[in-house]
Amino acid sequence: MNQVGAHALMWVGGWSEAECRKALENSRATGYDLIEIPVLDPLSIDVSMTRKALEEFGLSAACSLGLSFETDISSADPEVVARGESLLHDALAVTRDLGAKYLGGVISSALGKYMNPPSARGRSHSVRVMRGLTQQAAASGITLGLEVVNRYESNLINTAKQALEFIEDVGANNLKVHLDTYHMNIEEADFTTPVLASADQLGYVHVGENHRGYLGSGTVDFPAFFRALAAINYQGPVTFESFSSAVTAPGLSNTLGIWRNTWTDSLDLARHARQFINAGLRGAQVAQVGA
Ligand code: MN
Repeated sequence: MNQVGAHALMWVGGWSEAECRKALENSRATGYDLIEIPVLDPLSIDVSMTRKALEEFGLSAACSLGLSFETDISSADPEVVARGESLLHDALAVTRDLGAKYLGGVISSALGKYMNPPSARGRSHSVRVMRGLTQQAAASGITLGLEVVNRYESNLINTAKQALEFIEDVGANNLKVHLDTYHMNIEEADFTTPVLASADQLGYVHVGENHRGYLGSGTVDFPAFFRALAAINYQGPVTFESFSSAVTAPGLSNTLGIWRNTWTDSLDLARHARQFINAGLRGAQVAQVGA
């Protein structure tokens, strides 16, 4: 059974105690098992408060972040790389202290629009830092995920194939592919091949519509995606990710280009998505058994 997750930005743009409780209470009320907490500024997270709230509401947590150009571990500049390495180790410590088992996102490069392709030197920096991070993560039983994002949000890993190559270069079995249908819609040939190619290397999934609003109201081929997950017997988390200018986080919303309202009622959105994911997962399993 896959855990079904809710990205915190569906509910709140920050992580004060009131925001944390709102995000957890609403996730619980709408039937989610897991909350994905952005840790772009890991030291700002109140770990003991969050951990207590997770226990109170009976939810698991996953953590995610995107690096900035000031902390880009794929930079050619060793000072920038060192800042990124330090930030990632802080994020890992927060993940561990929250009791979470997953840290992912755009962690191998900056999250943002590059004006150049990646350099071989920069990529080797990223591989080296990631190798050290996976070793540290393994000590806490944490899996790291490389989110495959579109070309306007990274220049390093835009396809599942590139993520698999990167994982092979790092050579760690707790580094996994993180696929997101919103990005696959832009970069991949279809919604099946990348899932089948990742197979047991797939560690985390974001489901998002092509416009990042209500699932099923855009052009993403969700039936094909869910069938592919069933075909590889994917058991990991499936997290709903949606953004609207109705809820904004300073920095992140602008980086992601969230300029308009794709929804205004988070509770309705979340309930709809929970049902949509459940139907998608169950429908694909039934089809798999029947095949
Ligand atoms: Mn995503």
